[in-house]
Amino acid sequence: MRTVRTVAELRALLKPARPGSIGFVPTMGALHEGHLSLLRAARGGNDTVVLSIFVNPTQFTEASDLVAYPRDEARDLALAETEGVDVVFAPDAAEMYPDGFATTVSVRGTIAESLEGAHRGRAHFDGVATVVTKLLLAVLPDVAYFGAKDAQQVVVVRRAVADLGLPVRIEVCPTSRDHDGLARSSRNTRLSALERTRALAIPRALKAVQDAAAEGVVDADALRERALDGLPGDGLAFEYVAIVDPLTFEQVETVEREAIVAVAARVGDVRLIDNIRIEPGGRR
Ligand code: AMP
Repeated sequence: MRTVRTVAELRALLKPARPGSIGFVPTMGALHEGHLSLLRAARGGNDTVVLSIFVNPTQFTEASDLVAYPRDEARDLALAETEGVDVVFAPDAAEMYPDGFATTVSVRGTIAESLEGAHRGRAHFDGVATVVTKLLLAVLPDVAYFGAKDAQQVVVVRRAVADLGLPVRIEVCPTSRDHDGLARSSRNTRLSALERTRALAIPRALKAVQDAAAEGVVDADALRERALDGLPGDGLAFEYVAIVDPLTFEQVETVEREAIVAVAARVGDVRLIDNIRIEPGGRR
């Protein structure tokens, strides 16, 4: 496994890899089982696997969240090696955003402006779309792997890739969860034991909506009420519980076909997101 810090080194290293297929997993590090599931998918489907580790400052809309974001490169590199990664690209901010940097990839419309875009501000998905575009152009992979955990990010990235004509296939891997249902996230390491217990209200709320949909409830307001039923009042605050169309991220009033239930919640200082898919009268 090789670790490189610059785009020039990365390109030099990947040149001989072509025409074999390159699978790419972009991350912000603090790797957990969710990231590793993406790496395994990439390893299973490609000749060369590239992992990027870059805590992208431009997608953070709260300075304290950027400062507190967990970082452990030595551990990440050891895990990457175990998963058979060939190349780790771990640039610093000056490599990605040199002096004078002035270009933003900005996806417009509901897919980028609702939910996360509304609550974190539009700078969030501008930051995501810009850094993912830059990373894809640096690696030029055949396939790039993303997690369903960040469902809106997937839709925004797909839009940017299609609109800019980037020659890459986007593959989406299922959300990896701890045994008790909590979606794995680098930010989970910041939860105290009590906060982690409180965070379980998130998968519980999603399951309540899924169960209600399976029982035949189709009214989005009624489904949302089920999510909020019986929640412990303290320690966790939902920013939103939304039922949206999987392609447009428009809110739906009645679940007539597959929909995404997306939530964001704050537990202490930590903001967590999660989602599941539901279908009318049946579960997936
Ligand atoms: P991050 O390092 O949080 O930016 O995530 C890097 C990639 O890993 C993104 O495509 C995420 O959607 C994905 N990812 C993060 N958490 C999970 C999870 N629990 N299950 C599956 N994929 C995940």
